[in-house]
Amino acid sequence: MSLIQLLPEHVANQIAAGEVVNRPASAVKELLENAVDAGADDIHLLVRDAGKTLIQVIDNGCGMSAEDAEKCFLRHATSKIRQADDLYTLQTMGFRGEALASIAAVACVELKTKRPNDETGYIVCMEGEKRTSAQACACPDGTQISVKNIYFNTPARRQFLKSDEVEYRYIEEEFVRVAMAHPEIKWQLTRDEKQVYHLEPGSFRQRVVQLMGRAFEQRLVRVHEAAGDIDIDGFICTPEYTTKNRSKQYLFVNTRYIKHIGLSHAIETAYKQLVPEKNYPAYFLRLKVKPETIDVNIHPTKTEIRFNDEKLIYGVLLSVVKHAIGVTQLAPALDFDTENDVVVPTRKPLGFPEPPRLNLDPNYDPFAVAYKQSGKKPSYASDVRQGESLQAQLQFYKETFAPEAADAAEAALPKQGRPTQSEMAVSTNRMSKINAEPNGVVPVSAEALAAESDLNNKFLQFASAYIVTTVKSGLLFVDQQAASERIIYERYLKSTQPHEKPAGQRLLFPKTIQLSPSQSDVLKEIREKLAAWGWEIEWVGGGSFIVNAAPAQTQDEDIAALVENTVDDYISRMMTVHGRQEDNVAVALARQTAVRHGQVLSRAEMMSLINDLFASECPHLSPSGRRTYWIMPETEVKQAFKNSK
Ligand code: ADP
Ligand code: MG
Repeated sequence: MSLIQLLPEHVANQIAAGEVVNRPASAVKELLENAVDAGADDIHLLVRDAGKTLIQVIDNGCGMSAEDAEKCFLRHATSKIRQADDLYTLQTMGFRGEALASIAAVACVELKTKRPNDETGYIVCMEGEKRTSAQACACPDGTQISVKNIYFNTPARRQFLKSDEVEYRYIEEEFVRVAMAHPEIKWQLTRDEKQVYHLEPGSFRQRVVQLMGRAFEQRLVRVHEAAGDIDIDGFICTPEYTTKNRSKQYLFVNTRYIKHIGLSHAIETAYKQLVPEKNYPAYFLRLKVKPETIDVNIHPTKTEIRFNDEKLIYGVLLSVVKHAIGVTQLAPALDFDTENDVVVPTRKPLGFPEPPRLNLDPNYDPFAVAYKQSGKKPSYASDVRQGESLQAQLQFYKETFAPEAADAAEAALPKQGRPTQSEMAVSTNRMSKINAEPNGVVPVSAEALAAESDLNNKFLQFASAYIVTTVKSGLLFVDQQAASERIIYERYLKSTQPHEKPAGQRLLFPKTIQLSPSQSDVLKEIREKLAAWGWEIEWVGGGSFIVNAAPAQTQDEDIAALVENTVDDYISRMMTVHGRQEDNVAVALARQTAVRHGQVLSRAEMMSLINDLFASECPHLSPSGRRTYWIMPETEVKQAFKNSK
């Protein structure tokens, strides 16, 4: 007996539908693109319960005949291509003829449509692929399509949907992408009867500002280049404005929003050395190429495409963006060929640092002596950089201080400032031991470790990122940024208890912030949480807010950027890790206000950072799960010398 059977058609269709419509936002994308393909210049999207109960798209496009209104729900039914060759000259967003069939397979759909020259319109109702009614009706020119109770017949899929907050953000992102790609179209988005976007037609620049917020007016730099068959047009942002993820990177190819690792790399390379590590530039770029030089048919969602000559496009994009950055003289001392200097300190140093010391012999401080002898002022801030090798730093010590001290330092620190494989293995072992215990019980308790660390120790800041000091069992390396995030995060969470509520400090000059519709939505939601922590943020209409007060310990001069980045970080956490709102806000704030890599610390600052870290509840991890410290055991150091013979 054969084990293989053909699936019943409705099962096969539901499986196929899953690829095209894997969440309400994917249905939204398909419907919006159909409206664009229909030549509409006025498109309205309405959603209820994040699309779970209703997704409706109303357009004033070409409409359909009664016959087509029924046909369009058939699989592989399309008016956009006739033969395989047409794939190479595509001008439309859709071409597979699958979307409506897939949507109808998993929802109840009502379609009303009328062509401008027809007397009457036509209405078709579908319920999980079955047509339940079809008849003539009165309706305006264009098409109105309502998708109700999506996944009503696939409860498993419905169950996997995320919260309304999350699903709505996905929908909004699809809306933003297609609205940005088509500034000539009027767009509206209504969420649960509330209008969120109302975008009048305009230039691409105006559209970007409508969608991203008025703050972008100052950030945008025009890029325009027609090189042979490639036309690049749009805006990049000044390197001063960056985000922690790539959420503000928009690349369109022939009006299609796409994700392309190679091309993003080209653009980011142009910004290299101008933006801090793990920060990403923002851009809104439109590429026009001949349709026959790309393949859009490589991914179900059509957000990935392949270029015939990717190298060429890579090169053009890189040089065009570089040029745009250079011409506007955004960074006066721009030198694209310098390879070092990777860390761009994001803030001013917190004061002049003490000369570095090592705890080698309690009675002998060669640096202090050497400092007097050489009379040279050590410029630590500029000489200890992540990009610089340890060798270079030691050379600096040698020149500035006593050579023996430098030799000793060389021996005390890991080679190249980076642990070798086996060192990593040992430390990983230790960390896994610390982490291994269930229920988050840390076998090497924080107190024990804190006690172990002799706080009269000397502290060394290494690579402007790590604090190095000795503990009984070896050398302790603390990642200053991860540690600081942990400390601030716990401080925030503790302070939600009323008696711990930190007092906000009124700002002498209240700061105005301009946010995008999507950001302002979120800020309104988390404003109360922020208020509990001393922030007083007033909404003054549209995307504008005024910060009247901030927690006393907020040092950041640019409070507006701080709030904006916190909102962005919060959104991306909500989308990726979900979790409690309070946690996400606290993590986002902690990440924005923490000490950064590249920031020079004084001895007192290093000491209190280490103290506070080990006094925290979970000293070994940052709130986003990165390791905060690492111990290089003494045995490991010994071993290194033993093997040297
Ligand atoms: P595709 O877009 O790949 O052709 P769809 O399933 O999305 O496939 O749509 C099937 C067909 O239905 C389209 O080719 C088009 O002819 C018609 N259609 C869909 N939506 C609209 C609309 N909003 N206005 C006019 N025609 C539409
Ligand atoms: Mg389509």
